Amino acid sequence: MTAARTYDIRTYGCQMNVHDSERLAGLLEAAGYVAAPAGAGDDVDLIVFNTCAVRENADNRLYGNLGHILPAKQRRPGLQIAVGGCLAQKDRGRILDRAPWVDAVFGTHNLAALPVLLERARHNRKAQVEIAETLQNFPSDLPTRRQSAFSAWVSISVGCDNTCTFCIVPSLRGSETDRRAGDVLAEIRALVESGVVEITLLGQNVNSYGRSFGQRAAFGQLLRACGPIEGLERVRFTSPHPKDFTDDVIAAMAETPNVCPQLHMPLQSGSDTVLRAMRRSYRRERYLGILDRVRNAIPAAAITTDVIVGFPGETEADFQQTLDLVREARFAGAFTFQYSPRPGTPAAQLPEQIPKAVVQERYERLIALQDEISWTENRALIGTSVDVLVTATDGRKDGITGRSSGRARDGRLVHVQTGAAQPQPGDTITAAITRAAPHHLVADSEITMHRRWRGAGPSVAPAGRPTLLTISPTAPA
Ligand code: SF4
Repeated sequence: MTAARTYDIRTYGCQMNVHDSERLAGLLEAAGYVAAPAGAGDDVDLIVFNTCAVRENADNRLYGNLGHILPAKQRRPGLQIAVGGCLAQKDRGRILDRAPWVDAVFGTHNLAALPVLLERARHNRKAQVEIAETLQNFPSDLPTRRQSAFSAWVSISVGCDNTCTFCIVPSLRGSETDRRAGDVLAEIRALVESGVVEITLLGQNVNSYGRSFGQRAAFGQLLRACGPIEGLERVRFTSPHPKDFTDDVIAAMAETPNVCPQLHMPLQSGSDTVLRAMRRSYRRERYLGILDRVRNAIPAAAITTDVIVGFPGETEADFQQTLDLVREARFAGAFTFQYSPRPGTPAAQLPEQIPKAVVQERYERLIALQDEISWTENRALIGTSVDVLVTATDGRKDGITGRSSGRARDGRLVHVQTGAAQPQPGDTITAAITRAAPHHLVADSEITMHRRWRGAGPSVAPAGRPTLLTISPTAPA
């Protein structure tokens, strides 16, 4: 009896890729592979790179990694290497030109092809490339091996109909395809039955959900439909888009108890001139108006964002407008990016590309300002009590030095002293905030166990075997 072949999936980029990697793991296990043990490194039978194409260094990183594993492949020719994701969808067969030791290349639209391509490559001793132009299977219809037993990504749409000039996603993930709400809710109920207490609804632009089947208010209705699901404690979503963000969604967030008071809404720039050049289809006034209405309806909401610094043509005055808006918006946090031209995007052709040194200097000013604001906002929470869904513990049992960490309902990261309660991942505890830092809160006080997690159902990864994740902040949205 030959031993099952072991796999290791290395994921780059956004939550969409994390969700797809869970499907790739499910497909491989359905084909008889087993997850490689933690720490196996390159000593496995299959390495799958699920790639990102959003930033300039994404290419360098992939080809760098492929170079690093060549010696392992030369030592063990039976080792198979596969490349999927957005960079595979973009570069296709050219990947074999630069790394002929790769065995299979598949795209963002045909995840299910992976096991067959690997078999064919082994049988024919020839690398296989298969890229589909349109979606073959909705990823959520594929088997899955989820990373967390109590928290899950639920895809509601794939692709995007917007045309932001800096973004390569629509050309690699196609136009928006929405899942029927009934399928989404059925998946959520099955997840809750299997032990999940928190879900994140996933789409490139969740606010346009339902457009493809003619229901403009579908996203707000979907949030409301999550309300009555017993056992579902936390509902989050990413990514919304300011141009499609409507008041019915704000009302659904405010009136549905298990929808968390958290909103990650990409801004990208505070300058109307730059927003126009980015083809973002909203302006700063609309953006700030949404924030005001969210805060009126949900005063405790934590709002975070994405900002791109150094977009072509951005003047110092434009950048000042971004700083002004950030000051006014009081974000709980922000993912900040230095603009990098992506071949194939309209912005890469724009004449006024900003020198790297100028971009770097602006980037540092923005981070300094946002860190100061995040810290001030976090300090205001000292003395308050928060419910924390524990995601990790350091395992120390003495209750004094032992630490657990997790997320508050508003998405903030909280480190707590474990105390006698010894909370475990999946548990929800109540803790009083005693200290604050720019990017997290601390509770060094006695905690109370709010709810002990009842444990996982069948379909979760074996304990302690996380897939290797390199998660960068949300892809441009
Ligand atoms: S930035 Fe987001 S909304 Fe814009 S095209 Fe890319 S994925 Fe779509």
